[in-house]
Amino acid sequence: MAPVVQLQDIHKTYDSGEVQVRAVRGISLDLEKGEFMAIMGASGSGKSTLMNTLGCLDRPTKGTYLLDGVDVGKLDRNQLADLRNEKLGFVFQGFNLLARTTALENVELPMLYGKHRGSNVEIRKRAMHCLDIVGLANRHDHFPSQLSGGQQQRVAIARALVNQPQVLLADEPTGNLDSKTSIEVMGVFQKLNNGGITIVMVTHELDIAHYCKRNLIVRDGKVVNDMQIENRSIAELELKKILEAEAAAKLTGTD
Ligand code: ADP
Ligand code: MG
Repeated sequence: MAPVVQLQDIHKTYDSGEVQVRAVRGISLDLEKGEFMAIMGASGSGKSTLMNTLGCLDRPTKGTYLLDGVDVGKLDRNQLADLRNEKLGFVFQGFNLLARTTALENVELPMLYGKHRGSNVEIRKRAMHCLDIVGLANRHDHFPSQLSGGQQQRVAIARALVNQPQVLLADEPTGNLDSKTSIEVMGVFQKLNNGGITIVMVTHELDIAHYCKRNLIVRDGKVVNDMQIENRSIAELELKKILEAEAAAKLTGTD
């Protein structure tokens, strides 16, 4: 089976007049179905730019991206929006739920924009099913303000799942949560991955990356380490070493 994500020599340069920022500088990467990958790296290393590329929110300056076999670079805006809605699910650090809308209605939202919109009954049923997966079916009529941060993020995960995406993308999904709640949310991601869903998440927390099966470390827009985590304890030590070296390099500016 072909990889669900194929990045080939991706570059992204932001051009803001006088200064050019080379945020991503030649990243090639395959992601097989069922992978669970953490993207790690210091602030400014290009993690979000890479995620935005994966999410088709940002076009690379150079390079090719095949998502589920489709060459993203050949699509126009509308085709891209359809592809995104069909194949990708997004989870954000700040949850991004609509405030005056119940949990259930928030989860229904991506289906209302879908090309293959079902009946209202079907939409409701699928949204309830996704809330059930994240353990919040009994809170379906609550508004975001009536839910804890962890619960809001779980609603956001249900919303990301509702169109049955090929890949779930999450940029610092536990960034606004305390450690206990983070573990709870990571448990949900782990359960989804065990069920076969491909997940990519950005984090700068080692504890969070430990839940993933593959750890990618970026620095200055390049991949400096790409590790399949088979032996958890060895990987932990390796990762600690790499991140400490990263931090030291940053402090002494030996780039
Ligand atoms: P990270 O998520 O790892 O903190 P980013 O991908 O957000 O890193 O940023 C990588 C680099 O690109 C940084 O130097 C950042 O300032 C720059 N950058 C990000 N987005 C933009 C933008 N829209 N315009 C100009 N520069 C940007
Ligand atoms: Mg970022």
